[in-house]
Amino acid sequence: MKANKNIGCTVNECKFHSKNDSFCSLDHINIVKHENKATRQETTDCGSFEADK
Ligand code: SF4
Repeated sequence: MKANKNIGCTVNECKFHSKNDSFCSLDHINIVKHENKATRQETTDCGSFEADK
């Protein structure tokens, strides 16, 4: 898949990961938070993730 050099990502278990390097292949991703108020990096995540088969 074509790497989008504007979106770095190390989650190679995702079906949208470019696989050969550390980038996402999507043009756009949606970042989400897990708490009402995000106070730490761990409370944010990629909402566009889908598990690779
Ligand atoms: S959709 Fe999110 S988790 Fe998946 S490769 Fe792109 S940035 Fe990474």
